[in-house]
Parts: sequence; structure tokens; C-alpha cells
Amino acid sequence: MASLDTNLNNFSYCEILLAIFGEYSTDFVYTATGIFRRTVPPVCPECGTQMNYNGYNTYDKRGLGSVKIGRYICPSCNKTCEEERSFWEKLNGDFFGIISGIYNLMKLHHVSYQGMSDIMGLIYPQGKDTIFNTFADSIEKTVIPPIEDFQIVLYDEQHPKKGRTQKFRLTLLDGTVYFSSEIAISLNFTAEHTENAEAPKRSSNC
Ligand SMILES: [Zn+2]
Repeated sequence: MASLDTNLNNFSYCEILLAIFGEYSTDFVYTATGIFRRTVPPVCPECGTQMNYNGYNTYDKRGLGSVKIGRYICPSCNKTCEEERSFWEKLNGDFFGIISGIYNLMKLHHVSYQGMSDIMGLIYPQGKDTIFNTFADSIEKTVIPPIEDFQIVLYDEQHPKKGRTQKFRLTLLDGTVYFSSEIAISLNFTAEHTENAEAPKRSSNC
């Protein structure tokens, strides 16, 4: 794993830092001043000369923290480059993945966007519009498995109103569940009743 230059300031975070940098080789170092870079600067991708350290760039995520990523400069051709920061992107991704999961659960329990924003004010403050957009994005990314041999026997579309809000309800019933078989019988009944004025016999498998 990457070397950790610990001191009295960061020693208490040693376990956390180990978890974050555990997958890096010993070619990397997290310095006592919090810079992530190579133990030895890499060679220049342009001319092959050993590069020098050249400060760092700071990446911030509001409310979460920041990270310093080491920069290098070639003494021969002045080419500059920066160390990779996939660990930072992964930390961000993991965090917002959990946040998105919290939104989905709250939505499942019918919490309003304003309510979600009020609750998030205690954890990681987010406006209701941001929450709405994050939730909508997560729904769009949901992979729905393909359905094979799907036969719809009942289709119902309703546009009920709840207060001043227009809602939409779509009901699809396929032919594989017991309940839909009951509905199918009642549909048959309606059709046949009109023609023959007699209810159909219930099929034995229902
Ligand atoms: Zn160079």
C-alpha cells in the first residue's frame, strides 16, 4: 500500500487513511502535510527526464473535505503533470451512492421533497430541487430487466388528483398471477353476459 507519513495531527486517522490508500503500491505516499503523490517523481512522458515535485492542486467537495494532489514538472522541457486521484473520485462516488439510497428510501415512504430537504439538513444539507434531480437521475439509471413472454390482460390508466397535484396511475396485469385470472374471468363475463345473458363457468384451475 501507499506509505503514510504520520504525525501527531493525522495519526488518529491512520486507520481511515489505510482503508483509503490500501490499494496503492509503495510507489505512492500520503505526506504529513496531506499531499498524495509518488514517493519518487515519475519520468517525463515527453523526454524521459526524471521530473521534480511541483506543489499540488487542491480538490474540494463542499461539506465533505478536500484533498491535495501532487504535481510534477520536468526540469528539461518544463512539461507539467498531476498525480491521478481515483481514490478521491471513489470516495465521492461511495458517499453520494449512499445519499442517493437514502433519497430512494425516503421517497418509498412518501416523504415530500421539502421533507427530504429538511431531514438532509441534519446530515448533509441539500435543497429540494437538488434532491429532486438526484432522485430523477437515479431512477433513470435503474436497469429494468427485460420481460419475456409478457402478455397484458388488463391495462388501466387513471389521472387522479390529490389536492392540486395531478397524479398518474398505470396498472398492468399479466396473465401469470391468480388475481389477473380472476379479472380475466370477470372481463369474459361482461363480454358474454352482454351476448348470452349468462355468466361463464369458472375454469377449474382458478
Ligand atoms: Zn521533459
